[in-house]
Amino acid sequence: AIAQKELSYQAAIDHAYDKYKNLQEGKNADYIKELANVDPNIFGIAIVTTDGKVYSKGDLGQRVSIQSISKVFTLARLIEEQGPRAVADKIGVDATGLRFNSIVAVELQKGKEINPLVNPGAIAAVSLVKGNDSVAKWKNILDTHNAFAGTKLLLNKPVYISEAGDNLRNQAIAHLLLAYGRMYFDPVQSTDIYTKQCAINVNAKELAVMASTLANGGVNPVTKEKVVSPETCAFTMGIMSTAGLYDDSGQWLYAVGLPAKSGVGGGLIAVCPGKFGIAVISPPLNAAGNSVKAQKAIFDIAKELGVNPFIVT
Ligand code: GLN
Repeated sequence: AIAQKELSYQAAIDHAYDKYKNLQEGKNADYIKELANVDPNIFGIAIVTTDGKVYSKGDLGQRVSIQSISKVFTLARLIEEQGPRAVADKIGVDATGLRFNSIVAVELQKGKEINPLVNPGAIAAVSLVKGNDSVAKWKNILDTHNAFAGTKLLLNKPVYISEAGDNLRNQAIAHLLLAYGRMYFDPVQSTDIYTKQCAINVNAKELAVMASTLANGGVNPVTKEKVVSPETCAFTMGIMSTAGLYDDSGQWLYAVGLPAKSGVGGGLIAVCPGKFGIAVISPPLNAAGNSVKAQKAIFDIAKELGVNPFIVT
């Protein structure tokens, strides 16, 4: 039975890869100039099971910036440090239902419900994580990403420089939050650290290990390091379920049933609790800012593996 299961992971990946490898739909993000230069044909798929097995296909050697997927891991660190109540009270956990960089989302409720998986709440989360100065905060965040990935991740400097020189909108969001008493550290530095965390470079396998650490109750399935608690993973995946794909999160949960998170670099992760983490990288995005191919591939793979937890047979 175990051999058959192993086979089916690889087969499901292979099927999705072959079906979508030539699909030309969507467009690289270009509001961050450097992202427009990324090869749109990069296509990598990886599954890492909670017992540490790796299945993959495609461009595993290619890395892209993690972008919004980083929000998941900074959020998990924050829940681990301060508890779920603090995140609900100081940031808010309801989906905004609006674009990921919406200023209206902040304005509507005077910063009360800004969700840690879209920009306003994510910048607030950076302002809250442990660290007395920006160096310590950045170290905390990078160490957290490294622990989830089980390897030392590097910064994509061109992407960081490109976005840092052109992030007035996120700076505006941070200042508006400050005006409403919902920014907990210097807004300029918080936005800069946030921009840096978005520029961490990852490949599909590294992302899949990160997702699998969530699937495994916070223990990295490859290094066996205990990164966060099972409770922290549960709270994190709750928010991923309602807000992981920005304003398309409802459509995603409706179709796939698994907590997930996308980034404008083209990455998408999904978590099957107790079983595996999956990641796909393909830079061209749809209008909501989610990778077109990654969504299709994970949809197919989850369906083939029969892992929608809402289907009870
Ligand atoms: N760094 C990007 C931004 O702030 C992240 C957005 C994303 O991946 N949706 O706009």
